[in-house]
Amino acid sequence: MDKSLHLEIVTPDKVVLSEAVDYVGAPGFEGEFGILPNHIPFLAALRIGVLHYKAAGKTREVFVSGGFAEISDNKVSILAESAERAEDIDVERASKAKDRAEARIAQERDRIDYTRAQAALQRALQRMSAARK
Ligand code: ATP
Repeated sequence: MDKSLHLEIVTPDKVVLSEAVDYVGAPGFEGEFGILPNHIPFLAALRIGVLHYKAAGKTREVFVSGGFAEISDNKVSILAESAERAEDIDVERASKAKDRAEARIAQERDRIDYTRAQAALQRALQRMSAARK
């Protein structure tokens, strides 16, 4: 039983990625975790971060805005509100989103919007990080 893994990353809009891979490293809520072929069935919540995968000897990065990872029968399914491959990330857009979020955080320390601004800031920083690698 030495099958390869199939990685699929899906958002409400589209299938961001669907391909055979050798390894997946995902940003779990409780910390980064790795998946190799023949992993046991597993369900995990993801945080805003960068997913890595290895295929044909190369490591690639994908931004994920949280969501869930389900591993079953050598298939890794990622469901996220938004996700982009590193090469599809608009770094200037992320940089502007970072500036907006920082300005909101500076103004709205006492309001509920603070939490949303913190999440927006994390998305922007992790997009920039995914695009840099
Ligand atoms: P922004 O304020 O720039 O819209 P956001 O974090 O609020 O950023 P999301 O709600 O996570 O954006 O995503 C909305 C849509 O825009 C999704 O389809 C997502 O893939 C896309 N998107 C957001 N930021 C970028 C980016 N920097 N590069 C490429 N696509 C992006």
